[in-house]
Amino acid sequence: MSTKKIYFGTNLKMYKGNQAVVQYLSELSDFANNLQPEYEITLFVIPSYTTLKDAVSCAQEKTGRLPIKIGAQNMNPNDNGQFTGEISPLMLNELGVQLVMIGHSERRHVMKETDQEENEKVLSALKHGFTTLLCIGETLEQKNYNISDEVLRTQLKIGLQGVSVEQLPSLWIAYEPVWAIGTGGIPATADYADEKHTVIKQCLLELFGEESKKIPVLYGGSVNLENSNELILQPHIDGLFVGRSAWDAENFYQLIINT
Ligand code: PEP
Repeated sequence: MSTKKIYFGTNLKMYKGNQAVVQYLSELSDFANNLQPEYEITLFVIPSYTTLKDAVSCAQEKTGRLPIKIGAQNMNPNDNGQFTGEISPLMLNELGVQLVMIGHSERRHVMKETDQEENEKVLSALKHGFTTLLCIGETLEQKNYNISDEVLRTQLKIGLQGVSVEQLPSLWIAYEPVWAIGTGGIPATADYADEKHTVIKQCLLELFGEESKKIPVLYGGSVNLENSNELILQPHIDGLFVGRSAWDAENFYQLIINT
């Protein structure tokens, strides 16, 4: 068992309605409060917008030894305005949301968001005091062209433009290679993931100096019970961002205790 501080989180995507999220969080809190970790754990869950109010209440009510941070899957960078269908930082603040995820691969590749748009959201989320989880990762095509490192560095450089050193304690990064995510995804090997985390940490060091060492970098992409332990033992991986293997509370708990 590792002694480092470890982050575990899940994005529930467009799965689980309100009732299911409350039940999931309730079960996960019960499991989490039984944990006797020898290391510090930060646990977070990112459900859909419509469940956030009850998710925050549930996480607050059930809080015990290991609180669960609740996050939003996206956010419009503007406080308000003529942006039909969008959700603003003020609205998320009002609900007690603590974390906002920016630039998940599905936002980048399905909704066609650009690095510049992710940057606006990152700046706004940090300004409004959210823990800001910026997701980055290369596509299979980019990996095959051997330009993964360049892609990651560009996503970081543009995505974090204008972020100040003082804001770094609220910034988290998730490295999620697009080819590793979701059904049909192939998990990155621990060595490959660690190598890319090294590239990310080096780039953060160039951008922000020594203070960048405070930024946790999480790995995501087909994490499961079989590979979680090897991944977390890598020196540059600070946490695991899990999809499918975390959507059952007991599975997620098993993954955490096995790690
Ligand atoms: C994700 O979609 O961010 C993710 C990590 O999913 P999965 O673990 O299911 O690949």
